[in-house]
Parts: sequence; structure tokens; C-alpha cells
Amino acid sequence: MSASAMSDHPSLLETGDVRTDWTQAEAEAIYTLPLPDLLHRAQSIHRSRFDPTMVETASLLSVKTGGCPEDCGYCSQSVHNKTGVKATKLMAVERVIEDAKRAKAGGATRFCMGAAWRSPKDRDMDRVCAMIEGVRALGMETCVTLGMLTATQVERLNEAGLDYYNHNIDTSREYYPEIATTRTMDDRLETLALVRAGGIKVCCGGIVGMGETMTDRIAMLVILATLERHPESVPINMWNEVQGTPVMEKNQPVEPIAFVRLVALARILMPESVVRLSAGRHAMSDELQALCFLAGANSIFTGNVLLTTGNPERNKDFALLKKLGMRAAEAPVYGSTDGSLRQGNGARSRPPGSALASGVL
Ligand code: SF4
Repeated sequence: MSASAMSDHPSLLETGDVRTDWTQAEAEAIYTLPLPDLLHRAQSIHRSRFDPTMVETASLLSVKTGGCPEDCGYCSQSVHNKTGVKATKLMAVERVIEDAKRAKAGGATRFCMGAAWRSPKDRDMDRVCAMIEGVRALGMETCVTLGMLTATQVERLNEAGLDYYNHNIDTSREYYPEIATTRTMDDRLETLALVRAGGIKVCCGGIVGMGETMTDRIAMLVILATLERHPESVPINMWNEVQGTPVMEKNQPVEPIAFVRLVALARILMPESVVRLSAGRHAMSDELQALCFLAGANSIFTGNVLLTTGNPERNKDFALLKKLGMRAAEAPVYGSTDGSLRQGNGARSRPPGSALASGVL
């Protein structure tokens, strides 16, 4: 990049301060940097916050599958989509804990539990909270995704010791109506604000390859990077082809280098967040995953199934990490360079002014 181009975009000279005032124009300027410059900047920022050889491994279990009344056009679990996924009831706590034990034995440090609901019913909360308590007792971080929440439900999850709440914004505000009509982007942001105010860490990202433009992809990251506080965890999903969904008709495979650029942009816009390669990794070559790690991705899901879609086998993941001279983290990586942010067992940080903090800690 020439010196004059750098001076056209002063923000490109920065080395990774945490900012929440990013603009679309700034993000697009970063995204379109020559790849060596983009990767150098992302890697520099990554190294300033994280061990670049370390990757967080999380495991995901669908604790209640299918039958969801939302109409998300990409999802195998919506009742609106003819995908053949059979609806199940909420799993028994004991079965979930057994699965978490297996995930822990396989090296996962975080256990994520997903339920296909628009929002949980209050009567479901007892069992979900028991799952969270049981998984935490194993010494694992916990994450759940249950749909939209009320403030009271956030409080219950917080009391159960939940570490992360996953609630993706999916895509840009402009493209959102093409993807779901039974809820809005503002509905998503409202739940995220409740979760944040409730002192639970936020896991929020999106999906690419659903027919959106490059501008939409960047806009999605700008929404996340301009939240009052960045999500601690940012999953970036490459859409898994799911037969019987509306997105199947409009999806466009993501060009691999474009995906690497997006990962690098996420790392630069949100320097302290853990950036996760999520769905779609089974379709990525080792080389593409390696480039994503160089671009700042530092988390993957392990296990053979992600909710209802495929994922690389765990052994293959560990073989890849070994080949790259990298390794799976044995402890949570978020805040690993800052003791005040470290989220070990029992030690939980909360944003200043957290509504629920005083009643729980
Ligand atoms: S809310 Fe979740 S489970 Fe329900 S259709 Fe949308 S993505 Fe699928």
C-alpha cells in the first residue's frame, strides 16, 4: 500500500485500539487492502492480544432440535422449511452432561447448547439452567442459544452461571428481510442488549454465502464492531447447503480469499474478540483454514455435527493444528493477555454498571 493511500485512510495506520465508531467506508477500505497488507495488519493485532499458535475448541450440542416457528431462510430447523429435520423435545439434563463430558475428554473447553425456539418458555428455563450448572461443574465454559429472551430469563441464566449467550445477527440490516421475516434486526439487537446488560458475555456473528453482497458482509461486521461493547465471541459461518431451504435458491458460494478477507476484517475491527470459524468448515481446505488462522481466527467448533449439519472430524482438526504447529487451548482464550478479563472457572468479569452484577457476585 502506498504512503499516499495510507494517508487517505488514517485509521489504517492504527495498530488495533478497541474502537466502537467504525464506519462502513473505513471497513471497506481495510477489506480491500492488498492481501499481504491486510494479513500483516490482522496478524499484528492478533499477536498483540492472543497467542497466535492457540485455537479455542468449542463443542456444540442441539438440546432441542427442529420445529422452530421462525422462518430463517437458511435453517434446517424451521417449520417453514422442508428439510426433513425431525422435531425433538428438550433433552434430559443427564444426557446433556454425558455429552459435555465426552466433549471435554475430546479437548473442548467450551460447551455450547442450542435449542430451536423463537424464545424459551419460562417452564423450559429450569431444565436449561440445570444443564448450565451441570456443564460448569465439569469445569467447562458454557454457552447457550435459545432465541429471544426477556430480562427475567437473562437474570435466570446469569444466576445459573452462564458464560456466553449466542444470538447471531446473521447478515446486514439491509439484507435481513431477505433472510427472515418473523423477526427483525432490531429484535436481535434488543436481546443482545438485554444479555449484555445482564452481565453475560455475548457470542454474536453471522453467516456468509446466502446471496448477500460483499457490502452486506462488511456491514454485518460493522454492526458488531459498533455495538457499545464488542461481542467477546464472533462466529463467522460459511453457509452449509441445506436442501429444502429458501437460501438454497439464492446462495452463492463464498470465494475463499473473500472469506479470508472477512476474517481479517473481523480481527482488525474487534481486536479483543475471539473470532470463530463455525459452520461450513467441513467444506474448507486445510489451506483455507490455515489462511483464516493467519488472518486472526482463533476458535473452531470440534465434533462431527454442528446442530444438524456436518463438521470435520475431531481427529482431522487436531491433525491440522499439529501440521500448522498450532495447538488447542486448554483454557479459555478470551482475555488471555489481560488478567482482568480472564474467564476461568468461577471468575467472571462484568461490564461496568451491569444491571444484575450486584445481586449475583
Ligand atoms: S430461530 Fe434459530 S432454530 Fe429457529 S429457524 Fe431461526 S436459526 Fe433456525
